[in-house]
Amino acid sequence: MLTSHSSFCRRFRNIALLLVSLLLLAGILQGSLKTILLFGWLLIVLSFLVWASASIASGVYVDALICNRKKKNMIALSFDDGPNEATPQILDMLQEHQAKASFFIIGKKIATNKEVVLRMIAEGHTVGHHSWSHSPGFPLKSSKEIRKEIVCAQNTLEVLSGQKHSWFRPPYGVTNPMIAKALKGLGLKVAGWSIRSLDTKDEAAEVVYKRVVSRIKGGDIVLLHDTSANILPLLERLLISIAERKMDCVSIDSLVEK
Ligand SMILES: [Zn+2]
Repeated sequence: MLTSHSSFCRRFRNIALLLVSLLLLAGILQGSLKTILLFGWLLIVLSFLVWASASIASGVYVDALICNRKKKNMIALSFDDGPNEATPQILDMLQEHQAKASFFIIGKKIATNKEVVLRMIAEGHTVGHHSWSHSPGFPLKSSKEIRKEIVCAQNTLEVLSGQKHSWFRPPYGVTNPMIAKALKGLGLKVAGWSIRSLDTKDEAAEVVYKRVVSRIKGGDIVLLHDTSANILPLLERLLISIAERKMDCVSIDSLVEK
């Protein structure tokens, strides 16, 4: 997508930090201890708000699945922002390694990628969606607009597959009160992640691979992207490494099974 998860969070954090720095500077220039303390509190509150929205693991607004540590021998690889031209090759590679995964697809891409979406489902992967548009302004929309996007993507997916799908992953992993309100009553489960690969950064597959495997533990959900330039070499290395650790790559549905 145009804006990566990390760049969105970075921009959000930078604006907050700039604002607080300016206010703090004003307090120092004024020489008032009270003003400086007030800005200190403001910094804490703003930091909390940034963390609550930008971290899917915060659970402040939406209760998302981050991992399942009871499944010590399982890893759930998940792919966002597809389908795209790499998706059939991702499916081939998963099949070759007898691995299952989860795909959070963008609603507006379904119509032109029907076959590949039906293949994901037929091959036993979890298929959820990632909003209709995944527009950079998604988290800033009203709850009514967000709900419309979620319902539209959900309906398009369910009409195509003829079955229920229960997972949603918020674009950029951002949650806020509008997204929480939009999700009310829809009966959807929200999928987060415990390992963010940062695979959309312009880095070699080896760098991303090392970042992931240095942290990987049983029950993790790993965030990857169909759109990442190095997704195929990265996926191959991950699948080999996970198999060497005697772990299974499973779908998120399997990860939460009792
Ligand atoms: Zn995304």
